[in-house]
This record gives sequence, structure tokens and C-alpha cells, in this order.
Amino acid sequence: MYESIYAKQKQFYQSGKSKGIKFRKNALKQLKRGIKYYEHELSEAMLNDFNKQKTDTYMTEIGIVYNEINHAVKHLDEWAESKKVKTPITHFGSKSTIYKEPYGVTLIIAPWNYPFNLTISPLIGAISAGNTAVLKPSEHTPAVAEVISKIMESVFPVEHIAAVEGGVETNQALLRLPFDYIFYTGSSHVGKIVMKNAAENLVPVTLELGGKSPAIVTKNADLKLAAKRIVWAKFSNAGQTCVAPDFVYAEKSIKDALVYHIKYYTYKFYHKDFINGKYMSIVNNDHFERIRGLIEGDIVYGGGLRPEDRTIEPTVIDNAEFDHPAMQEEIFGPVLPVLSFENLDKAILDIRDMLDPLALYVFTEKKTEAESVITKVPFGGGAVNDAMYHLATPYLPFGGRGNSGMGKYHGKYSFDTFTHEKSILKQTTLFDIPFRYPNLKVFQKLI
Ligand code: NAD
Repeated sequence: MYESIYAKQKQFYQSGKSKGIKFRKNALKQLKRGIKYYEHELSEAMLNDFNKQKTDTYMTEIGIVYNEINHAVKHLDEWAESKKVKTPITHFGSKSTIYKEPYGVTLIIAPWNYPFNLTISPLIGAISAGNTAVLKPSEHTPAVAEVISKIMESVFPVEHIAAVEGGVETNQALLRLPFDYIFYTGSSHVGKIVMKNAAENLVPVTLELGGKSPAIVTKNADLKLAAKRIVWAKFSNAGQTCVAPDFVYAEKSIKDALVYHIKYYTYKFYHKDFINGKYMSIVNNDHFERIRGLIEGDIVYGGGLRPEDRTIEPTVIDNAEFDHPAMQEEIFGPVLPVLSFENLDKAILDIRDMLDPLALYVFTEKKTEAESVITKVPFGGGAVNDAMYHLATPYLPFGGRGNSGMGKYHGKYSFDTFTHEKSILKQTTLFDIPFRYPNLKVFQKLI
């Protein structure tokens, strides 16, 4: 079945239809229309899969996708244009041009935590660049996966875009096919499997992975605002966000005051929802049990569990150390350990000892402190005096490095990711410079 989808897409791609700029723009507009039509069903599916509330669904899944589509439609002509570049004097007489060529038939594998956004955002890049695409939404959010399939069927012929539902075996079967590009979002563990498979056919990959993203707070931070923004970024989506602050690393002298504000905002933002069953669920029992196992030590807020709807109360663990269970893996749930440091230089070294995080946040009013962290610690991307917000702009490339991934997307970077830049030198035939040829006298006349 997958072979036949792949073969149809290959043929369609080779027909050249997906490459037309008008075709691409129209496909993006149709995609938006399709999503609009299914908006209600999509919101219901989010509620079914993990109690994601409608406003959250609109803000973090649907609205963000509309923005990406609008941005791509607006800029596509300019992105897709061939680019003339300089030519060195050694190549006198010739001209250099970079052509923008789609890869061809692409595969997009998505995770469950933002099951719609993380499937469709890369697709916008694939379509904009003129590719065909097979989507594999996550099996852990089956209701959303079903709506994604419906949208794709209603908008696109399979030979252009197709969604395939299924689990690990489906993925394994897809990964055996010689796609021209693979865009994978998910865990670092599966990222390695994807890359090994891709290596068999020398397929280029983008890997959007995870990791432990720190929020560093120094004594020069606006503590109240830092706490407010950290709490929002950490506990939205029940902490199941790849760029959520995984843990807080606070300067010792202000740590207690910061924890006070963190507790205040956690209560203010999430207490009611948790009590009323409106707080988002953990995606499945395995993850529920895994996260529950991380809650130990100095619990200064939360700790409540509702196994019947797989909900974990936003939980703050004070005075945690690097050997705390929650510090051994990416938490990916509503549990926030707070650690403290004596001085920023030491904190920088500690974080450099960890695997490269996908994001890093530094809260301080002192520019030199922020610059020091930004320039000395390797990480994917991040923010100063904010958390998570950096991913919602199409003008910043989004992606990790090392264990948190490779490659980038959003806005033009999505287009570039799905585009091969084909370099062409156009040579003159009016004359022929002799220097490069063997056994010709250098000062011989030009021929
Ligand atoms: P996952 O890696 O378990 O699953 C992602 C996809 O891989 C699913 O479609 C699944 O079917 C497939 N898969 C699972 N096991 C496989 C195997 N053995 N062989 C082939 N395919 C397999 O990830 P997840 O649990 O869905 O997502 C959580 C992780 O994703 C976290 O680490 C998070 O940080 C990361 N993440 C990263 C980003 C980002 O943009 N960088 C975004 C969201 C999530």
C-alpha cells in the first residue's frame, strides 16, 4: 500500500505539476480552506485525545498553522526565484545562478504533543517548495490523526499529499522506501533510528528532537515576570512541549523569592482548571506512570493526580539536585524542578556538561549576563526574559543541535529545508581563456 502511494507520488512529481508556483499557492490556499472546514472536528478530536481545550487548540495548533500558510503564500514568489550570485574573476565571462529545486517525494513523521501543528507546519514547507508529501501523524493521538487524514483526502489527490495512519510498524515500512527527504519530529531515541534508515538510501533528514531545556534566572531578573512566563511556558499543554522549560536553574540568593512567585502563578493560572477537569491530560498511561515516578523530594506545589483522566497537577519541586530522578531524562510533563547555583559561570559550565538542549531561556536585566549565556552554551534557540515564544515567529529558524536535532524550519527556513539549491555556472562561448588547459602556452592569444 505504501509502495503504491510512493510510486504514485514519484510519478506525479516527475510530471512537474507540483513545481508550478501557481499550483503551490493554490495548494496552500486549499489546505487552509480544508482546515477551516474541519476546525470544529479538529477541536473535538483534541478534546478526545487528551482534553486539550478549544482556545489552546486554536492558539497553538490551528492559528499558528494559518499564520504559516499566509506567510508562505505571501512570500513564495520571492523565495522560489532563482538567485544570481557573484562570479570570481578567475571565471571571467561566466555567470552564476542558484536554482531552487524541490527534493521530490518527501516523508513527514510527526509526534503527538502538538499533533496537528507539528504535522502541518512542515507540510507547508514541503508544498511551498514544490514537493509531494506522505504524512505520518502520531498513533498516540488517533482522533487527530483521523481528522488530518480527512482534511488531506478532501483537499489533495494522494499522488500529491497523502496521510498514512498507523504506529511503529507503519513508520518502519515507510522508512524503508527511498524518499527524497525525511522530516522527523519526535524523541532523540527514534531520531537515531530514522537517521540510520535514511542512511541506507542516503536520504537527507531534518530531525526535530527534544532534550532538557533550562530556564536560568539570575539575581538581576524581574522575578515576578520571570516566574509568570516560566509557569505559562512550562505548564501549557501539561508540560508536553518540546521547548517547555524543563527545569529552573536559579541564583541562590533569589531562588526562594522566585519559587514564591512560581507557586503564586501556578495556582492563579492552573488551579481552577485542574480542579474542574479542564487541565490537559497526559497523552497515555505509560507517560502518566513515567511522569508520576518523577514526583518526589521537596514538593512545594501540586503533586495531585487524577488517574481516571490521566491528569497530573502542575507540580513544583524545590531544592532539586542534578541527581534527582526528574533530572535524568526530558520530563515532558507538568513537573518543574528548581535547582540553584552560586554563580553564573559555574551554572554555564553545568549546562554545558549536559546534552545540547533544544531551547534555553535566560532571565536577567543585565545584557552582559544574557550574552554570556547565549555565547557560551550550545543550544538550539531560545529567549531572553521569555520562554517558548521564540518558536511562534516565522522570521526565526527553529531547530536543535546535537542531541536536540539537526536542521531548521518555520517561515522561509521551511521552504529552504525542502529545497535543493542547484548551482549553475553559465559559461560564455564567445572566448575561451587558455590557462586551465595543459600544454598550452599561457601567453598564447585567446581563441
Ligand atoms: P516518538 O519519537 O516516540 O514518536 C514519534 C514518531 O516516531 C511516531 O509517529 C512513532 O510512530 C514513531 N516511532 C516510534 N518508535 C519508532 C520506532 N522504533 N521506529 C520507527 N518509528 C518509531 O516521539 P513522541 O513521544 O511522539 O514525542 C516526544 C518527543 O518529541 C520529545 O522528546 C519531544 O521533545 C520531541 N519533540 C520535539 C519537537 C521539536 O520540534 N524539536 C517537537 C515536539 C516534540
